[in-house]
Amino acid sequence: MRRLPTFLSLLLLLSACGTNERVDDVFHPMGGIPMRITAYDISNSRFREVFEEIKERVDVLEGALSLYIQDSDLTILNEKGVSDVSEDTLAVIEQAMRLCKNTEGAFDPTVASVIELWTYAEKAGKAPTDEELSQALERVGCNKIETSHARSRVRLTQPGMRLDLGGIAKGYVAAEAARIMQKRGITRGIVDAGGDVVVFSGKGDKLFRVGIKHPMSTENVFAILSVANGAVVTSGCYERFVEIDGKRVCHIIDPRSGKPAKGLLSVSVLARDAAAADAYATALFVLGPEDGFALAKSLPEVEAVFLLEADGGEKLRMKATPGLTGKLELAE
Ligand code: AMP
Ligand code: MG
Repeated sequence: MRRLPTFLSLLLLLSACGTNERVDDVFHPMGGIPMRITAYDISNSRFREVFEEIKERVDVLEGALSLYIQDSDLTILNEKGVSDVSEDTLAVIEQAMRLCKNTEGAFDPTVASVIELWTYAEKAGKAPTDEELSQALERVGCNKIETSHARSRVRLTQPGMRLDLGGIAKGYVAAEAARIMQKRGITRGIVDAGGDVVVFSGKGDKLFRVGIKHPMSTENVFAILSVANGAVVTSGCYERFVEIDGKRVCHIIDPRSGKPAKGLLSVSVLARDAAAADAYATALFVLGPEDGFALAKSLPEVEAVFLLEADGGEKLRMKATPGLTGKLELAE
């Protein structure tokens, strides 16, 4: 879950309107992502307890899911091909498999073998060949993962196959932090995990205003979503990419071709569950402005905002699913 130095922080929480007292604090898990926890109507001492509980929980999750920790469940699974894993790891992998099916493989954690080729290509300064890509693609496909509940065991059925949960883990962690807050009696709060935002509030509370960054000038907000409860997660390539031979290459890979996704500047997804929002944002980015938009419209649990170039790059075009009518406004 380590991020490149310019990790995504695509979403900016503009303001959380409301008159009640707020407390917040930030920590930096998963390779330095700023994770800000905000709660309303809670004493400072109570907030400290909840904040510490969240930090501990995130540490456990990172220890299980990170590709950059030597003895994480995921590192061991990738090395051995079969391994007993924690309940958390099994839950994330199974959710990833469901989302892979729901997106017809546009979101696919087994794309790891292809990602490795592109990471290597960055060092070598040369893109992978079609033959290298097609060999790696033989190890891609979520039907090639087997899970067993009885033993909390995962098996990767192809030799050399690997998993990368980078497209869902941050959302899963953010969802878990919000769950802890609610379990501890907080009724209004915000989790902002480096731009993956989860908000929750009670009846009658004012809406939160979540900003969607302008993909061409990321210090500016392009649009604002008004949300009472749910997660807003953005995928885009403008802050995270690899550079090969002077060209920017997106870190999101199309599992059908093994090539970096193109066609969109960003996709922001609004959904109840942050892990699902995270995976859908990655998938819709892969599918692009036509197929991605059609999929987003067909999924009742997903609303989405697509930003793409128009007029040969001169302008920005926005496409939003009909369910966002009245919830989405352009920033000034
Ligand atoms: P996100 O920033 O949430 O869109 O996730 C991007 C990260 O997910 C990448 O850095 C990879 O680790 C991983 N990834 C890239 N392409 C895919 C894909 N098609 N399906 C699942 N995970 C992917
Ligand atoms: Mg994602």
